[in-house]
Amino acid sequence: AAPLKVCIVGSGNWGSAIARIIGTNAQKLQRFATTVKMWVYEEMVNERKLSEIINTEHENVKYLPGYKLPENVVAVPQLREAAEGADLLVFVVPHQFIRKLCDEIVGCVSDKARGITLIKGIDEGPEGLKLISDIIREKMGIDVSVLMGANIANEVAAEKFCESTIGSKVLENGLLFKELLQTPTFRITVVDDADTVELCGALKNIVAVGAGFCDGLQCGDNTKAASCGVADLITTCYGGRNRRVAEAFARTGKSIEELEKEMLNGQKLQGPLTSAEVYHILKQKGLVDKFPLFTAVYQICFEGKPVQDMITCLQSHPEHL
Ligand code: NAD
Ligand code: 13P
Ligand code: CA
Repeated sequence: AAPLKVCIVGSGNWGSAIARIIGTNAQKLQRFATTVKMWVYEEMVNERKLSEIINTEHENVKYLPGYKLPENVVAVPQLREAAEGADLLVFVVPHQFIRKLCDEIVGCVSDKARGITLIKGIDEGPEGLKLISDIIREKMGIDVSVLMGANIANEVAAEKFCESTIGSKVLENGLLFKELLQTPTFRITVVDDADTVELCGALKNIVAVGAGFCDGLQCGDNTKAASCGVADLITTCYGGRNRRVAEAFARTGKSIEELEKEMLNGQKLQGPLTSAEVYHILKQKGLVDKFPLFTAVYQICFEGKPVQDMITCLQSHPEHL
């Protein structure tokens, strides 16, 4: 069979880290075409186009500085050109952009292509919650797997050991993506419950914002752990961007929007937006009272509720009453 052509849709912090892995594996393995196209949302960095910097310096100097990209990863600023003829599509953009991007590439990719999303976030549909993988599946008519884990991009780029989970409704496709993405330090398990994998990846970002608030308020370790679960949740509550910006929010009183710009140099938080999407759905379903942490994070981020009130909200958790 002809080697499978891979396109990475996105080149932010995580997109660039995963491009290092994909580029290396595509070069090594017969099954994948050596050249990997990576779509870059074009912008100027130090008066040069980012895509040109990537193709000459082989480094995404803005979103993953300090780590080289393999030379067979080629930055392409036109989305349709990047996706044209791809057999495997890896979606890795902040979740707020996915609908528009799918609309743009529909028609230039075969329905036999296979997708995987590394995007943590959810969307709202007419019936409530909508998964990002479902948006891609419906818009493009392709099978879509998901990959989620405790995978802070800079640590993955530094080849520090971690684990990740691929959720796939078609096992064969999950295993194919495992071949593309696994390395000695990035270990992958494939499971069939894709929806749960994706939902956990999305929702932990809201908890991370809550954890950041706790740190900014100088709460105790017990307080912070009261909102904590496993793996990705633990990682995100200590090392992630959502947590870091939320801490600064609680300390400085500046808005989330302002802090995102100031602290992240173009990288995007997913937690605050996800809290809003989840809040609308909870409201629609009459479930707001059952999710005090999610609700408090939303109200603090978007409705001017004082951050100090977060702990009060947790005190009225339905489990405690
Ligand atoms: P990022 O936070 O670095 O976001 C910046 C990217 O968004 C850049 O590539 C930028 O060009 C692009 N962008 C800006 N405006 C845009 C627009 N209008 N249209 C399209 N793209 C635009 O991105 P990331 O870290 O690669 O995150 C992508 C997804 O991966 C998110 O859902 C995130 O939760 C998830 N994720 C991130 C990490 C991590 O450690 N960074 C780890 C696991 C999962
Ligand atoms: P942040 O977006 O909060 O940095 O989290 C990254 C992540 O998802 C780690 O698994
Ligand atoms: Ca190859």
